[in-house]
Amino acid sequence: MSGYDAVEVIRTKRDGGTLSDEAIDWVVGAYAAGDVAEEQMAALCMAILLRGMSADEVSRWTGAMLESGERVDLAGVGRPTVDKHSTGGVGDKITLPLAPLVAACGAAVPQLSGRGLGHTGGTLDKLESIPGWRATLSPADYQRQLREIGAVICAAGDNLAPADKKLYALRDVTGTVEAIPLIASSIMSKKIAEGASALVLDVKVGSGAFMKEADSARELASTMVELGESYGVTTVAMLTDMSQPLGLTAGNALEVAESVEVLAGGGPPDVVELTITLAREMLGAVGLTDRDPAEALRDGRAMDVWRAMIAAQGGDPDAPLPQAREISVVAAPASGVLRRLDAYAVGVAAWRLGAGRARKEDQVSAGAGVRMLAKVGDRVVAGEPLFELHADDGERFDRARAALEGGFDIGPAAAARHPLVLDRIGG
Ligand code: URA
Repeated sequence: MSGYDAVEVIRTKRDGGTLSDEAIDWVVGAYAAGDVAEEQMAALCMAILLRGMSADEVSRWTGAMLESGERVDLAGVGRPTVDKHSTGGVGDKITLPLAPLVAACGAAVPQLSGRGLGHTGGTLDKLESIPGWRATLSPADYQRQLREIGAVICAAGDNLAPADKKLYALRDVTGTVEAIPLIASSIMSKKIAEGASALVLDVKVGSGAFMKEADSARELASTMVELGESYGVTTVAMLTDMSQPLGLTAGNALEVAESVEVLAGGGPPDVVELTITLAREMLGAVGLTDRDPAEALRDGRAMDVWRAMIAAQGGDPDAPLPQAREISVVAAPASGVLRRLDAYAVGVAAWRLGAGRARKEDQVSAGAGVRMLAKVGDRVVAGEPLFELHADDGERFDRARAALEGGFDIGPAAAARHPLVLDRIGG
């Protein structure tokens, strides 16, 4: 007998009280074991969303989720370990060039990733567009790849904070995803379990992000930084702009191609800037402040690691990437300066073209997505192409065009540009 009762725990939080450490350990453990009913956990999540949690409560909740699975031991890797997590955005392919770049500078990057749901794409979906590449690795192969190559991006196993998997699915259908204590503990329990000694968080702000406003993004970032530090993980958070998409592509193979351009020393300036900024933060967090990621990008060392990382997981880095069967162009309706390019609208368009999934079981199309031919601040000419829509099935074009309607403004004068990096928290 635990001496706890789910209804009592729910009532305590509903009435604005503080949950004891023991109550938190019990309720998370009993839920993971199937001894607290879904409707009881749903009520508790709603009470947490409405009443919030103290820093101590969030820390204990995170610990209880961590305890539900294993914490990976990376001591045998032989290099400092550091990971990056992005809260997700449109065109956010940064992990692809970043992991090999940081590995080329001497750290090891253990990246356990997920698949995309809704309008933001998942890193594994992007990499799966590379012929032969596989997302699953055995624990032994995972450790070997980290030791020998320094970068792994693969699917998280079932034992990484399993309580979170169950809880996230419940939050998704009960309107309780948006609670900051629950988001922070969900992300951080998985990242702490992954075993890296340092973590850089890229907290996105803007229409294409989870957090639309800087204040809530800052609160989430501070909560996660505190959590990481309280579990012995050096943690820094960057707040970065997601009011327009990152780079010029949104869609799986299109984003891989753009990432390879960055690794080859080219690519869109915003993708290059954010990749180098986050690489510097990651290297700094593990004391490798003398390494220069810009140089490792220029001299081809990052590309060498990319090729080795893809090949180690069965992928052919030289194989042509899949292309969508049909392309349709959206022309600029007026001449002037592109003043706004809404990340959410582009994300929904890419999703409707087949790049994303609505349900976990859906297949994604590797070639589908949106190529943007202009970014905010660029001059555009009426009748000239503004977007290229890529899809395997031409019937998807109308709904993608509808998503883009109202998603951009063209005007006579340039709008104020949003800086890419808005704030830095921790460190
Ligand atoms: N991503 C997660 O992993 N968890 C959340 O709660 C929200 C986003």
